Amino acid sequence: MTINIGEIGEKDRNSVLHPFTQLKDFATGKLGDPTIVETGKGIRIQDANGNQLIDGFAGLYCVNVGYGRTEVAEAISRQAYRLAYYHSYAAHTTDELAILSDRLVKMAPNKMSKIFYGMSGSDANETQAKLVWYYNNLRGKPNKKKIISRERGYHGCSVISGSMTGMSFYHDHMDLPLPRILHTGVPHFYWGAQPGETEQEFSKRRAAELDDLIQREGPDTVGAFIGEPVLGTGGITPPPAGYWEAIQPVLRKHDVLLIADEVITGFGRTGSMFGSQHYGIEPDLITIAKGLTSAYFPLSAAMVGEKVYEVLEAGADRVGAFSHGYTYSGHPIGAAAANAVLDIVEREDLAGNAREVGAFFQAQLKEKFSQLPIVGEVRGVGLMGAIEFVADRNNRKRFDPMLKVGARISKAARDRGLIARAMPHGDILGFAPPLVVTKAEVEEIVAIAESAVRVVMDELTRDGQR
Ligand code: PMP
Repeated sequence: MTINIGEIGEKDRNSVLHPFTQLKDFATGKLGDPTIVETGKGIRIQDANGNQLIDGFAGLYCVNVGYGRTEVAEAISRQAYRLAYYHSYAAHTTDELAILSDRLVKMAPNKMSKIFYGMSGSDANETQAKLVWYYNNLRGKPNKKKIISRERGYHGCSVISGSMTGMSFYHDHMDLPLPRILHTGVPHFYWGAQPGETEQEFSKRRAAELDDLIQREGPDTVGAFIGEPVLGTGGITPPPAGYWEAIQPVLRKHDVLLIADEVITGFGRTGSMFGSQHYGIEPDLITIAKGLTSAYFPLSAAMVGEKVYEVLEAGADRVGAFSHGYTYSGHPIGAAAANAVLDIVEREDLAGNAREVGAFFQAQLKEKFSQLPIVGEVRGVGLMGAIEFVADRNNRKRFDPMLKVGARISKAARDRGLIARAMPHGDILGFAPPLVVTKAEVEEIVAIAESAVRVVMDELTRDGQR
């Protein structure tokens, strides 16, 4: 198909409300023309001008099996021809849905019992909150409803999930967070540790703060804690040593459910199939999305652990049918896409690739960047990593935000053919390539990133800004 670039760009500018885009700058052309992404193959995408870019972020940490996997496209097409849609209300199902659910229950960590489907990570977390409230209503604990999330956690941007997200950018001017959602300290060792504190001590301090918060609020009012095994949008930050080991006993002590938000970490990204397995987390509820279909179709799920499900089933005679669901819950095309994607994840051992190529990737990041004078920290696990830039690495002094160092490095990388994302909360360059990435491709990614960093570092030196 030949695209008329000018016409498509104009239609877009006139009619699309783009997420996370400065609307006026876009409308007036200050941001330039929209990038029309046309095709993709492996770890690369191509725009309508024929420019190829390495997608070092797998879309938004989601195209784990890479672009252009024809067997997934064929599975989607087969299902669309056979039966494009039927709902899963009132005990209806499809073969793809039943097979997928059986598979997910078997592969999930920590005895998940049932799978409830949605379309996005946000709505799946919305479901988790409702499940927590429903569970405690059925247990005769109507006050046990507050949900604790972490500062810098990201859980979506619908009303409840956006409230769980611990970043003011997502709250300001949107009347969030909801009163029932609280936030506790972020497990970010580099920024949060006190002088001389070890990772273990820092983790224990975070757990003690959580304990204090629950005691202050009253344990009878706190229903759940939600966290990403590895902080994603908040800066791609693996937990400090001992963090999850310290947090979980606090939750158990106060009868507070644990929701693991595995939207990014699910299906191999950390080098284990789930982040929960990687860090010894025993969640009661697990949220999955992105990697479930590698974004070939919008599909998410709230995985419901046995402990919670048993209460739901036991209460059914009293309350009647489970009163939650979407038109597209368990969409058969999504289920077919997920089954085809999971076939690839298993056959190609993508968790193993994330472990092995991921170790190489982490070593390369450390080797090429950790000694640079503007780099404060290099961190990551498996195939997710970040470089944090600072003006003074001895005092951990940030750059003046007006210098936009992270955004400039990201732009310099893009100009050289690599998408690596500038992340909020400082000057951070984030990576999360498709899990099919090879060592040779990692070398390519790191080489481009290095030249981008050096070019901006030289500019900063030239301008006397460091
Ligand atoms: N949870 C986590 C950990 C995420 O990273 C995201 C999206 N980046 C979400 C939830 C929300 O998912 P969605 O954008 O599909 O609503």
